[in-house]
Amino acid sequence: MEPRKMKAVKSLVFPVGDFPPELHWLLSEFRLIVNKSVRIALSQDIRSRYRLSAAAYGQLSAEHRIYKQYIPSAFEVAMGSLKAHRRRLKKGRRSSTPYMMKLMLKAENQSYKLDRETGRLRIPIRRGEMAVILHLSLSDWHRSILNDLSWRLGSLTVVPGRVIIAVSRDAPERYEPKAAIALDTNEDSLDGVFAGEWSATLLSLSLGGVRQVQATHFRRRRRLAHKKAYDRRVQRKLLDREGRRERDRVRQRLHVVSKGLVRAAKDHQAAIVLEDLTLHGAGGRSRRMNRRLSSWPRREIHRQIEYKAAMEGVPVIKVNPRYTSKTCPACGALRRDRVGRMFECECGWSMDRQHNAGMNILKTALASDEALARGVRFHPGALRDDVVIPLYDLQALLEGAREEPSGVELTLSHLS
Ligand SMILES: [Zn+2]
Repeated sequence: MEPRKMKAVKSLVFPVGDFPPELHWLLSEFRLIVNKSVRIALSQDIRSRYRLSAAAYGQLSAEHRIYKQYIPSAFEVAMGSLKAHRRRLKKGRRSSTPYMMKLMLKAENQSYKLDRETGRLRIPIRRGEMAVILHLSLSDWHRSILNDLSWRLGSLTVVPGRVIIAVSRDAPERYEPKAAIALDTNEDSLDGVFAGEWSATLLSLSLGGVRQVQATHFRRRRRLAHKKAYDRRVQRKLLDREGRRERDRVRQRLHVVSKGLVRAAKDHQAAIVLEDLTLHGAGGRSRRMNRRLSSWPRREIHRQIEYKAAMEGVPVIKVNPRYTSKTCPACGALRRDRVGRMFECECGWSMDRQHNAGMNILKTALASDEALARGVRFHPGALRDDVVIPLYDLQALLEGAREEPSGVELTLSHLS
């Protein structure tokens, strides 16, 4: 199964002090065209940019002497705000007819010219007339991106005092893995095994107290719902806000984890192996386990890992989680009864349940992925009495104590 081609997008923001009057004129013309387009689209029940263009381009280009290529961009802005408006109405929420108050210009990359070395930006104003030239001041960060030609220039947005240029690039080719990091996804950690050609070790990645964050917010939401029960509108508003806060806090913790994991994988040219959470209904997991795995933070950490890995060329392999928590990685026996905190098998194998699942995830991947099997030899027996090593300490990273996760490095010499 080929993962879809990923694209990274960044916004480069440049403060612009002095705004020439021509640019001001352009922004107010653009706003006018957007607002007229909204009215035309509403009055004729137009729902696509193509139809809007057919209905309005002639009239608007006759009424406005603005550089022609801006008119389709105005249609795009108009259709975007109309879509949001119609969605709100459909959900039964209140929404007034969209009207753009803010001065703004949006342009596609064929409309403007940017000198990537000097920051000279040329913005056409009217048809057949001179353009406005702005000199953007480039920071080191801006330069590092603009000097790298794999970043392509995208749309330009101009608002008073600021210019924003979108850049994008395709994900690099994935490397052939020489090692694997296979992880079982648990409530507050990812647990599993690092396996290279000659060595293997157990790993744990803390999710940085995500479970506690969720528990705290759960209690707070319940209290809020109770206290504001008399006013449904206020209750909803407060609960929405609580939900957003919780998500932001969780997301931020997960970003640190996914970033460190992807970096460690790249350092060791390892593939990352995870369960395919969309397949969790396939069986082998209890209903309780299914509910736990389908919850948002688990999906979110996978989403982040997959995205960041794609941007770094790190291969990600997803395996069916069926029986991963019930199988003995040493002898292959399948346990029918409930597995406790320790997985124990009649063959004498015994291991913490979560790491045990991580090993089975690795074994499943090795059985199905030829490229991985070429790079990694894995013998569960070698791990039997090993110590678990944290892939890296999240708390230390949050406090800025250290930049590089080095858990994996430590363990390489540890076991081989
Ligand atoms: Zn066994």
